[in-house]
Amino acid sequence: MSFKIEILPALADNYIYLVSDADIGLAMVVDPGDANVVMKALNAKDLYLALIINTHHHRDHIDGSARLAKEYGAPIIGPEKEKSYISDLSRGVKQGDIVSFSTLHGQVIETHGHTSGHIAYYFPEIKALFSGDALFSLGCGRLFEGTAAEMWPSLVALRNLPDDTKVYCGHEYTEANAKFALTLDKDNPHLKARAAEATALRKQGLPTLPANLGVEKLANPFLRADDEAFQHILAKKGLATIGTDPAAIFGSLRAAKDRFSEN
Ligand code: ZN
Ligand code: FE
Repeated sequence: MSFKIEILPALADNYIYLVSDADIGLAMVVDPGDANVVMKALNAKDLYLALIINTHHHRDHIDGSARLAKEYGAPIIGPEKEKSYISDLSRGVKQGDIVSFSTLHGQVIETHGHTSGHIAYYFPEIKALFSGDALFSLGCGRLFEGTAAEMWPSLVALRNLPDDTKVYCGHEYTEANAKFALTLDKDNPHLKARAAEATALRKQGLPTLPANLGVEKLANPFLRADDEAFQHILAKKGLATIGTDPAAIFGSLRAAKDRFSEN
């Protein structure tokens, strides 16, 4: 089997992911915020759409779903808990459910916080994590519907995946995230290297994704709220009290990011 993951830029700074199996000429799409972008890519590659999967109900991730479903007769899979928000959802999925495409088996991981039912999909056969707006490179989603106490365990669940996991997230926010992360942790070599890499890629007009999860574990401040050395750095900046719950430290980091920027 030869699988390919294509990154389709859409809207202002969204990414839609097209996973295709050339052997059978079929594709699966992740978070199609714009149907036209997907149809154009399918036509160019001579692929037929077999499946639509959504991470959460925000318009920039689902707006193209209904039209694509109609055009190709493809089912829409999305979070069971957000069934009422996503029109024409064919199947609602929850923690531990499996989503099949060709010979791939995507594991559903509940990652609540950004929205109340947000989910991510991990496909071990291609080492791909579709993290939506839960985990970004060097950042994480804003807490729109959930709390820090919900979001922290969600991020820990993603952090538990293997280091060689490729992270395909919903937005191109890496450079902006790097700016904030560097205000906290400017001497972190992993962060500095990733920030430089992101700047170089954006200069060439290329996506900074997928991110490498192993690098994110070392560089993304939102995955490090329980890292003792990092907590000491945060404590000096008034962003953490040593010995408190990592979820609370994560919450104070997220609040500091909200004050810093719009993402
Ligand atoms: Zn969102
Ligand atoms: Fe989004």
